[in-house]
Amino acid sequence: MIEKNTILLSPIEYLKGVGPLRADLLKKELNIFTFNDLLHLFPYKHLDKTTITPIHAINLSTEFVQVVGTLENIHILGEKRSKRLIAYVRDNTGIVELVWFQGINWVQKNLHEGLTYLVFGRTSFFNNKAQIVHPEIEIFNSQQNKERNFLEPVYPSTEKLKQRGLNGRQIAKLTQVLIQQLSANDLLENIPENICNHLQLMNRLEAYKNVHFPKNIQDYEQAIQRLKFEEFLIAQIRLQLIKIQRHKASKGVVFKEVGNLFNTFYNHHLPFELTNAQKNVLKQIRQDTVSGHQMNRLLQGDVGSGKTIVALLCMLLAADNGFQSCMMAPTEILAQQHYNSLSELLHKMNLSISLLTGSTKAKERKKILEDLAQGTTHFIVGTHALIEEGVQFKNLGFAVVDEQHRFGVAQRAALWKKATIPPHILVMTATPIPRTLAMTAYGDLDYSVMDELPKGRQAITTVHRNEMQRIKVMEFIRTELAKGRQAYVIYPLIEESEKLSYEDLMQGYEQIKSYFPEPKYHISVLHGKMPTEQKEVNMQRFVTGKTQIMVSTTVIEVGVNVPNATVMVIESSEKFGLSQLHQLRGRVGRGNEKSYCILLTGSKLSIDAKERINMMCRTNNGFEIAEKDLELRGPGDVEGTRQSGALNFKIASIINDKDILEKAKSIAENILEEDKDLNLAKNLPLKNYLKQQKGKTNWSKIS
Ligand code: ADP
Ligand code: MG
Repeated sequence: MIEKNTILLSPIEYLKGVGPLRADLLKKELNIFTFNDLLHLFPYKHLDKTTITPIHAINLSTEFVQVVGTLENIHILGEKRSKRLIAYVRDNTGIVELVWFQGINWVQKNLHEGLTYLVFGRTSFFNNKAQIVHPEIEIFNSQQNKERNFLEPVYPSTEKLKQRGLNGRQIAKLTQVLIQQLSANDLLENIPENICNHLQLMNRLEAYKNVHFPKNIQDYEQAIQRLKFEEFLIAQIRLQLIKIQRHKASKGVVFKEVGNLFNTFYNHHLPFELTNAQKNVLKQIRQDTVSGHQMNRLLQGDVGSGKTIVALLCMLLAADNGFQSCMMAPTEILAQQHYNSLSELLHKMNLSISLLTGSTKAKERKKILEDLAQGTTHFIVGTHALIEEGVQFKNLGFAVVDEQHRFGVAQRAALWKKATIPPHILVMTATPIPRTLAMTAYGDLDYSVMDELPKGRQAITTVHRNEMQRIKVMEFIRTELAKGRQAYVIYPLIEESEKLSYEDLMQGYEQIKSYFPEPKYHISVLHGKMPTEQKEVNMQRFVTGKTQIMVSTTVIEVGVNVPNATVMVIESSEKFGLSQLHQLRGRVGRGNEKSYCILLTGSKLSIDAKERINMMCRTNNGFEIAEKDLELRGPGDVEGTRQSGALNFKIASIINDKDILEKAKSIAENILEEDKDLNLAKNLPLKNYLKQQKGKTNWSKIS
């Protein structure tokens, strides 16, 4: 059954018309090494040569056109550089001009006035007259033309390939040679027959033929649908198999009981009622942690949805069952903040909690590590410092990774090794991931979504102002400060130069100081390059309300929680990506007061920047924003997925083909639910295909 003997594995130089020189170029320029690679170089469009257009119907919106008519009036215009050959084609509806700048001699020798030609090309308009520059032109033969009624594929090529006579059309010829040699044995069906029938899918061989050389648009559409579905289905089956495999293989610690610590905290110290979303996630985690398997859960919650408290409750559950927990944050500021808020929430409870970061002093660190290894520490909060070699737990049972996109896969894996039975892992991210992306890039993880904000939150009002309106913006800050509120002013990090962004920031700081002078006002300033202690002092002064304004670069972005802050001004906001703006904005609107986000920009904006700013003003919904971000930037750029390898879809797109993806996902689930080892006869085509593909992609990179 396995496609061992297929010619698709043949090196590309063996294809008729290729040869060693062209083969070299195809490898270098397009990564085409085998017949199979060429088969997967899909045309990016087809030229419609199925219809002949009457000349009078050509208009400004005509891109490509095919006409038939008599050639007239061949003549040369201009000299030297502007020398060109002009001719006309006339049918009984009108006349169109043909122009050649190159190959003039050839045209003069080979084309003849008075004969009927078939002409194809891109139309352009010059002085309101339609013309076709460098058309494809040949003697019209009505009999032949009936036979070669088709959509001509156009392939990507490169300058170098074109120089070697491999332009898009010639690649089409090679592809045609290849396809003529293929039989059903080369492209065995890999989707179970019952599913093909149910969805009325074109079979695999036909689909490949029609995606390159369709007879009509309908055939092409069916072919492409089939190949997209196949691509998503295979990927979903793979991801779900990984998940099943991991569940089977991974032993997990069991949190048998909900004990005293959890209950005491829940009933007496929880400062608010949980949202339904929070309760649901807790329930899910509770189920995971009694299953006997290791939990690997991604928790997505929009900024301010209250992820921290969920994590804390889980940590209490772990402690009730005699296990230690850790919480890892991406920055020292954030680790410190988590430590402070956990300490405060837990201060009436008899639990030992410590903080470990890169700047923990050696002596203190030694003591912390001892307590951790002894098991006297229940909870430890920290940065990357937590996963360093020397850090030993007595019995780590639960690990929280906050703001996941700053951490790599390797770091998560390092957590596993901190205990003989790997701890349950809860990865929390406030960068909402569009559903389709989550399904593909994280399809092997379990994931929960908290799409509800705590009660009493008011929507943040976001407005766009340009630099000319700066004074008004400052006035606005003043009125908010007069009400006892606090404000952030954020400057972009200039990637090319730390120094530049520092200067930018300090200049801004001076300016703000002049609007808000001491002693009435006090200002904190925060910059990535600042010594940790100074950062903490500045942060702490803002948290405790000693300073009213925080001037900062984006180091503030992640997770900082000061509910009394109600204004955020983002300078040069056109320089930020959507997700980042949303993250930043999430620093306000965390209390019960009405909050505002002011996006300052220069007066000239690119179309893209305008779209981003408008989007921000229009919605507070992180998931909507994430979708837009994905659309604007493409999946490769969305944080945390860059190297995942899960997104290299050749033909399907997680942006444009959401419906197909949803369908593929649910069908993959059904298949595996019924037959998780793919042993049923009907599923063998799938199983064989997966076996044969094994090793081609390194899927282990994902988790
Ligand atoms: P994020 O999900 O962005 O990490 P946090 O966990 O920092 O959000 O929570 C944001 C704020 O909301 C905190 O001040 C927290 O105490 C508060 N909070 C969390 N859950 C609730 C709730 N159910 N009701 C009211 N306030 C809540
Ligand atoms: Mg948070």
